[in-house]
Amino acid sequence: MNYDKLMATLKLDSSNFNDDEKHLLYNSYTRYRLLRQAKLHNNPKTNHFAQDFQNRLVTNIEANFRVFSYKEIFETKKTEDLLGAGVYLIYLKDKSGNVVLTYVGESKNIWVRWKTHLKDINPKTSTKRKRLYSKLKKLFREQKLNYENVQFVKIVDQSDANQRLFSEAYFIYNFKSPVINANNKNLNSRAACTSGHGRMASCLTYQIREKEVIPVVQFRCRNQECRIKFEIF
Ligand SMILES: [Zn+2]
Repeated sequence: MNYDKLMATLKLDSSNFNDDEKHLLYNSYTRYRLLRQAKLHNNPKTNHFAQDFQNRLVTNIEANFRVFSYKEIFETKKTEDLLGAGVYLIYLKDKSGNVVLTYVGESKNIWVRWKTHLKDINPKTSTKRKRLYSKLKKLFREQKLNYENVQFVKIVDQSDANQRLFSEAYFIYNFKSPVINANNKNLNSRAACTSGHGRMASCLTYQIREKEVIPVVQFRCRNQECRIKFEIF
């Protein structure tokens, strides 16, 4: 490995790093590049990596949050508000327990939003052209995966509409994968800078922390004054 080239790529001063640190930096940079490839491209060489992080994220969520089934939501009245406002995850596993579909959404009334999702999650009654529903149709057709096994979970409690859009984008970047994730957009175009600079843009990038390369999602306002970074999985 050419460490000098790596240092130049990362714009770091080689003299601040000993050999062990350079090695650690190289490993974390390699992991970042694999993760970036898995999140942004459908590549047979990195798709197993995407499968692994989707499974681990969902396992983590299942250990910490209450998961609702299709049936539970179906059997409640349309007007019920059981969860309030926030960010949610919809997911489906295949017969061997691998996560084959994820979708992140936000709403001021999650339960009511889930009720409206139900009709379109059913491939027989679905009318909307949305990636989530077409992916479900495909999984139903090709793998005989029942849409009634789709799971719903609220992952963030947030009443502020603008903050919800950033939380939603943060989770979209965590779950990002052209193979498994069904979100079309990253950051909603309504998301505004809290210092009043107007709209925000987002991207997947990295930062150096304690001599390691850490993958992050970066939110930046259009005049580039504000930049916020959050570590992602
Ligand atoms: Zn700003």
